[in-house]
Amino acid sequence: MSKSVLLLPGDGIGPEIVAEAEKVLRKVNEQFGLELTFDSALVGGSAIDATGVPLPEETLSSARAADAILLGAVGGPKWDDLEMARRPEKGLLGLRSNLELFANLRPAILYPQLASASSLKPEVVSGLDIVIVRELTGGIYFGQPRGIRELENGERQGYNTYVYSESEIRRIGRVAFETAQQRNKKLCSVDKHNVLEVTVLWREIMDELSKDYPDVELSHMYVDNAAMQLVRAPKQFDVIVTGNMFGDILSDEAAMLTGSIGMLPSASMNAAKQGMYEPCHGSAPDIAGQGIANPLATILSAAMMLRYSLDAEEAAKAIEAAVSKVLDQGLRTADIMSEGNTRVSTAEMGEAVLAAL
Ligand code: ATP
Ligand code: MG
Repeated sequence: MSKSVLLLPGDGIGPEIVAEAEKVLRKVNEQFGLELTFDSALVGGSAIDATGVPLPEETLSSARAADAILLGAVGGPKWDDLEMARRPEKGLLGLRSNLELFANLRPAILYPQLASASSLKPEVVSGLDIVIVRELTGGIYFGQPRGIRELENGERQGYNTYVYSESEIRRIGRVAFETAQQRNKKLCSVDKHNVLEVTVLWREIMDELSKDYPDVELSHMYVDNAAMQLVRAPKQFDVIVTGNMFGDILSDEAAMLTGSIGMLPSASMNAAKQGMYEPCHGSAPDIAGQGIANPLATILSAAMMLRYSLDAEEAAKAIEAAVSKVLDQGLRTADIMSEGNTRVSTAEMGEAVLAAL
């Protein structure tokens, strides 16, 4: 059955890197007979320039209709002075909330070819391959009530509310257990069970869910310990599941273990496995338009898209193998360049992945 992919190149280096990922997707589409169809739309600053808003109605309806979305990046200095509600980033937040993309998957993979990019010792990180599953639409970032209020003594008090309902925990838990099932069957749930009631419930639901996934080994860890373990011995983890705020912090920490932001993909999915896939990095306005951005994070995001939303595991694996092969060949964009390797442009990197396929 044919499936549709919506391309949202966005701003900055977005169009350059999405163009390379599109070529790769079209290639595996042919090779594996996937019957994918492609469409594209405006989001972020480029949408503001063309229509006045960061998420035009037309883009939202195309996004709703698509099986999967591949996004480059949004934002840049050109739009920094706009009021909050009209900023390019609102385009992304609008897509996340309208499509109910509650599950954010961020792998942190250190390719052995790039081990020297990490700030940790090679034996601690080489071969690192973990996934953080972060709840994306709930928790303290969205909980009510929230605000800044005045106390009787006249001083101001800021407050936020950390809330999760059972159904919110259960649905992110299921995504995490299923992710672990597809990998090494080890899931670590991160909470603050000793201090926060909401995470007492979180832990209870994770334990309850684990009965449905007897092949997955579930463990629990306090968030402070998890932050420490990630830099001490990150390879002990396979899949980590946690709430919105802890996941925000831990996934950035895990990304830095690999030392190369240009290599890291991400996925945000809803209950129907419809997903938005994008590199972890931003629009990199400092290098936009120069043809030097690393397209591999976007190409690897396309691989995740094939795996999680388009039911095409073999094509996903083929792309990942092709990326590994071009690294073996010593091809490097500027951000991952090191001595003895060959520096290539964005387009040359894309072409090399195509050739390796
Ligand atoms: P955002 O707020 O959108 O996350 P940011 O300000 O955190 O953006 P990025 O846009 O991710 O930052 O850029 C951070 C640095 O990493 C910049 O110097 C940028 O040039 C570099 N960078 C980001 N992505 C890439 C890439 N794909 N290839 C090469 N360099 C990159
Ligand atoms: Mg950033």
